[in-house]
Amino acid sequence: MPEQSGKVQTVLGLIEPDQLGRTMTHEHLTMTFECSHVSPAPGDEGLAAAPIEMKHLHWLQQNPYSHHENLLLNQEIEAVKEELLCYRKAGGGSIVENTTTGINRNLPVLRQLAKETGVHIIAGAGYYVDVTHSDETRKMTVEKLTDIIVNEVLHGADGTDIRCGVIGEIGTSWPITESEKKVLRATAHAQTQLGCPVIIHPGRNKAAPGEAIRILQEAGGDISKTVMSHLDRSIYDPRELLEFAKMGSYLEYDLFGTEVLNYQFNLDVDMLSDSQRVQTLAFLIREGYEDRILIAHDIHTKHRLTKYGGHGFSHILKNIVPKMLSRGITQNQVDKILIENPKQWLTFK
Ligand SMILES: [Zn+2]
Repeated sequence: MPEQSGKVQTVLGLIEPDQLGRTMTHEHLTMTFECSHVSPAPGDEGLAAAPIEMKHLHWLQQNPYSHHENLLLNQEIEAVKEELLCYRKAGGGSIVENTTTGINRNLPVLRQLAKETGVHIIAGAGYYVDVTHSDETRKMTVEKLTDIIVNEVLHGADGTDIRCGVIGEIGTSWPITESEKKVLRATAHAQTQLGCPVIIHPGRNKAAPGEAIRILQEAGGDISKTVMSHLDRSIYDPRELLEFAKMGSYLEYDLFGTEVLNYQFNLDVDMLSDSQRVQTLAFLIREGYEDRILIAHDIHTKHRLTKYGGHGFSHILKNIVPKMLSRGITQNQVDKILIENPKQWLTFK
């Protein structure tokens, strides 16, 4: 039995599950997102190249992926540190940092932030979406990929001794590519060996979450210990959502704070507002899924930091929790979503 059994693995070592406290299960503290740059609309080239300024803020909030510098969250370590200190003051305990290979995971920075702020940080093993896979990654067998992921959890990743405490976010596109399928199978095999938590980034299609879960299931993955991210931009129809929920994964609403007219990655989507996200949580609770819900902000660009006029890492604790309580979700249910469910998910079997 690995030493992780019954514990949670942070970048500073193993902790008891009860030490986690309130936990955001999908955030990024340092990463780059150039892989997802979207060309600015004709006429907006000047805005896209200009420094970030108050008078451009609304444009930036609506077109975050068209501004190159906005995609470099790795330049904001001081600002992120300040945010984490505020997060602790607001009652936050832990953060799952979902940055995987392909979007510039930086484990020494995560360790430094954990030491300096007292926030427990859990790092992610594995690979992001296909466009970020190297030729070397694409050529690897499932066995080789499994070995690498297991090693990142048991011994440390990126040439460091810093260990990952979850597998993911594992990136998938739509349709899921061959290379991504291999990574999903390796994820399931590594999870079988380790008894560890897994988190998936689905492609931008309503069929994508179910397809990713099926691939994991067929490869022997433990779906009850797997999180499906980004449901707030994937499945809208209540019946389809309940169909997906029956598959048994955790259901994550992790784009709290994102309010946009057009979702740049998929213009067919009417992105949920925070009010609609809260309504969806209340619906899932009424349908009996309160043990399966997780929430977060998935901050991955500069403009969502308070330094740039954004909502920051404390938005859920400061603004969303009171809204949940005012919409009939009980304190006990809030605590389940923020404390108990993350704890169950993050504890190694
Ligand atoms: Zn993410």
